[in-house]
Amino acid sequence: MMRSLYVKFAAVTIGIMFLSGVVAFLISNTYYQHSLKPQNDEKNTKIALEMAAFIENNPEITMSDYLSNMADIGYQLYLVDNDGREQLFGAEFRENNLTDSDIQKVLDGEIFHGMVHFPRQTFVTGFFANELKNSIGVPVTYQNSDYALFIRPDIKLLFNEMHLLFGVLFALTIILSILFVLFSTNYLVKPISRLSTATKQLAKGKLQVNTLPTKRKDELGELSTSFSQMAKQIEKNDRLRKEFVSNISHDIQSPLSNIKGYTNLLNDKETSEEEKKQYTSIINEEISRLSIMTDQLLLLSSLDQDQHIVKKKRFNISSQLKDLLTSYHWLIQEKEIMLSYTLPDLEIDADPSLLNTVWDNLLSNALKYNHPAGSIDIQLTYTEGHCSISFTDTGIGISKEETERIFDRFYRADASRTRSVKGTGLGLSIVATIVELHGGTISVQSDNMAGTTFIVKLPLRG
Ligand code: ADP
Repeated sequence: MMRSLYVKFAAVTIGIMFLSGVVAFLISNTYYQHSLKPQNDEKNTKIALEMAAFIENNPEITMSDYLSNMADIGYQLYLVDNDGREQLFGAEFRENNLTDSDIQKVLDGEIFHGMVHFPRQTFVTGFFANELKNSIGVPVTYQNSDYALFIRPDIKLLFNEMHLLFGVLFALTIILSILFVLFSTNYLVKPISRLSTATKQLAKGKLQVNTLPTKRKDELGELSTSFSQMAKQIEKNDRLRKEFVSNISHDIQSPLSNIKGYTNLLNDKETSEEEKKQYTSIINEEISRLSIMTDQLLLLSSLDQDQHIVKKKRFNISSQLKDLLTSYHWLIQEKEIMLSYTLPDLEIDADPSLLNTVWDNLLSNALKYNHPAGSIDIQLTYTEGHCSISFTDTGIGISKEETERIFDRFYRADASRTRSVKGTGLGLSIVATIVELHGGTISVQSDNMAGTTFIVKLPLRG
């Protein structure tokens, strides 16, 4: 894949270079045909006329000497007289293609503008065409005879070095550009191919990718950075999924084996009525734990799958919280917990049943993880657009490392501290998902051993 991208990229770039070359040539050719060619013709006409004037004004000089001298300076000259006698000074013309009428017109006193009329098809190279047609012809009178003098600059003599210089410049530009294109393409394509390799590894299940060019400060660097972030996220999800499955299996397995053990004991003839009662209540407890867990799992999966599960309506959130406190009244008393709260009337747009689940979980946790005779404080405050509800307890607290994980599914903090408390580890992950679906946030502050505060922030109007 990398090869073909490399080849394509290099080919396209080199193609573009050549295309630009052709277009640039066509444009400069138009410029030459429209502007430079007439200027060149004009310049040479002036020179030819000056030569003719010099010959006519200085009849004492020998014309052929003067013309050979001009040829030495850098001109090709062709002289014809009325009788058709021709003389050539300087380098030969490659083609002697003047027509008789061209010559006759000059002998009759006209100026021949071969340069400006030189065919357009020859492009700029017409400038270099060493042909007699590509010259300027002027009439000259010398010792009472009429001559036609055709001149053109000897390009070879005048411009040979420039010619070479431009040739070398042109060739070097092309060769160097191609080399640089091949080189820079590699620089561009290499990270892509590394990304591609990383993608393949990821697809094969190798989730640790770290050889990406994330330090580049361009789009590819950005892509690499988001790619490795994505890989990390996938790895995390993968780990969570595995944990999730193993946790589910374990959490279903242990109550089931408890139930099995106790039902066997129930059938035992030696079990007393008293014991039977105790076993039945344990079995009941395990069954209700299983039932709670399956309810929670069902809720989680529907929260995961469907955003539309949130059915918002306006309701009084403080009444809802007060009702909940009433239903927990007996448990709060039983645990001798001191409860305080500030719940001013407030209406919000939200899903009442889902939010009830949130408060239920936070309150039951504050009770479960509290010390006997501890206290719980609930505060509702609000500003323009948001309200925040806090649950503060004086319980066992959560360590700093654990606060990062308590919202993960099935996560239960340090088993030795919470062993006595029954739980599934799903409650807070449900809470976090519901709050998130409402566009709110949840945060936790905890002083290990000295209590915990959960703060839920919700927008008032959905
Ligand atoms: P669980 O069913 O175990 O209560 P949760 O998801 O509700 O599951 O809570 C996850 C873990 O977070 C709990 O096991 C507990 O260790 C910790 N936790 C939650 N709330 C509190 C709290 N108020 N005080 C101390 N620890 C808490």
